[in-house]
Amino acid sequence: MRILLIGRQGSGKGTQAKLVAERHKIPNISTGDIFRDASALRTDLGMKAEAYMKKGHLVPDEIVTSLVKERVRQKDCRDGFVLDGFPRNISQAKALDKITNLDKVFVLKLSDDLAIKRLSQRRQCKKCKSVYGGIIATRKKGICDKCHGKLYQREDDKPAAIRKRLSIYHKETEPLVDYYKKKGIVHLINANQPVEKIAAEISRHLYHEADMLEL
Ligand SMILES: [Zn+2]
Repeated sequence: MRILLIGRQGSGKGTQAKLVAERHKIPNISTGDIFRDASALRTDLGMKAEAYMKKGHLVPDEIVTSLVKERVRQKDCRDGFVLDGFPRNISQAKALDKITNLDKVFVLKLSDDLAIKRLSQRRQCKKCKSVYGGIIATRKKGICDKCHGKLYQREDDKPAAIRKRLSIYHKETEPLVDYYKKKGIVHLINANQPVEKIAAEISRHLYHEADMLEL
């Protein structure tokens, strides 16, 4: 099963990608992990990607695509994978089509208002970098459960920054939904549900498919 999850910031896409990967025993491939691995191994592509990120720039499509290509050809991807964060625009999707075919695309749907509400409640620990759903999500208000560090709101979780990220999502990533709908592999999932319910819904679609294959 080659799976892609699409969802705006705040939709819980990263969490779901991890859960689906664990349940179906396939690797979870996120662009963040690919960048980290490639720069740790000091590969040519990894060093290039790192140079862009250090300057705070987006890594160009050609580099991301080449890195993903290397990754999905590794042995552990033989039975499939869960992609998270790639492709993030139509040109990357077209490049991916040349590398591999996806079996399923899950779109985690969430309104802008809810995404903004969720993200603006998010707090991070200054010391150990743990992320919490909000200051009241911890045992002691404003204090990290793990290391007792102080929680703060990251710059990119402030409303103006969130709106900017959402508008980029609408403009660049959302067109992917129609792109994959034309291939008949899209499932829309309501992301305004508890994590477990969303995971169960995704699994149902995947198992249903597996049953069909056995028949
Ligand atoms: Zn902490």
